Amino acid sequence: MELGGGGRGAGDRARRQLQAVGRLLAYLGGGFVLLTAASSVTVRSLRALSDANQRKFAQPCGACAGKGTYACRLCKGSTTIEWSPMYDPVFINPCLCPTCDGTRAQRCLNCLGKGYA
Ligand SMILES: [Zn+2]
Ligand SMILES: [Zn+2]
Repeated sequence: MELGGGGRGAGDRARRQLQAVGRLLAYLGGGFVLLTAASSVTVRSLRALSDANQRKFAQPCGACAGKGTYACRLCKGSTTIEWSPMYDPVFINPCLCPTCDGTRAQRCLNCLGKGYA
């Protein structure tokens, strides 16, 4: 009788320990997720802050007038370039402009598209 009771108690204890470990893991996991979220939020707000500071003190980019992009110089706004692989004037193919991908605007190389330098 007593042995059986003891056995059941040990099993109960093991189960309870498992539950405790599971709770601990869940707690740690939740904490980790929270920590990750918090740190990413912190990083994002810090980045936004430094961005705002840069924007406040930086001069607008002279090359693109602060827009971050300017009209594509390769295709001059036509979205395609006339490209011939053989330098053969007979087989000139209009190709999608590789610089602007047909958007007619290319990212400003002076400010890297930020609009300020
Ligand atoms: Zn282009
Ligand atoms: Zn620029």
